[in-house]
Amino acid sequence: MGVAILLLMERVNIVVIGDVPPVEVEILRNELEKVFSYDFSVYARLPLPEECLMESRGQYDATCLLNRIMQYPGYRVLGVVSSDISFPGYNFLLGLAASGGRGALISVYRLRHGDRKRYLERMKKEAMHELGHTFGLKHCNNRCVMQFSNTVFDVDNKPPAFCEECSIKIREHLR
Ligand code: ZN
Ligand code: ZN
Repeated sequence: MGVAILLLMERVNIVVIGDVPPVEVEILRNELEKVFSYDFSVYARLPLPEECLMESRGQYDATCLLNRIMQYPGYRVLGVVSSDISFPGYNFLLGLAASGGRGALISVYRLRHGDRKRYLERMKKEAMHELGHTFGLKHCNNRCVMQFSNTVFDVDNKPPAFCEECSIKIREHLR
């Protein structure tokens, strides 16, 4: 009985916001299940919420979207947003997470690339990075997916993997 409860708690729910093709989300879901020892499932699909639109910039407020997905259950909730997102003081964001919290958010808007493989790899790295923050990880200077990314070029230059130190921290956080 205890095991069943544990499994239920360890589900990561993906909430798709806007127009991200299901086939892309499915590839991401599958990749993340290989990285993290959790069940990932697509829980909901929402239209872009009007109340989160920053009209003067045509971008969506990342904090507003993060709050929105926190209304959903799950051990973790990962939001995958089709539009450009931002935050006061930034021109744009690739993702956002509450450090040590339950919610993580990525925007695929600036990750898109003619080379689909590269685009999907960027999605995976950004999702790993933001989920890493929910496991208490900070930015890391090693060859690591937790390296800070200012641009998609930084994303391309980091590996799709946690370094040894970060892997240990995640394991400690989980057990
Ligand atoms: Zn970060
Ligand atoms: Zn690291």
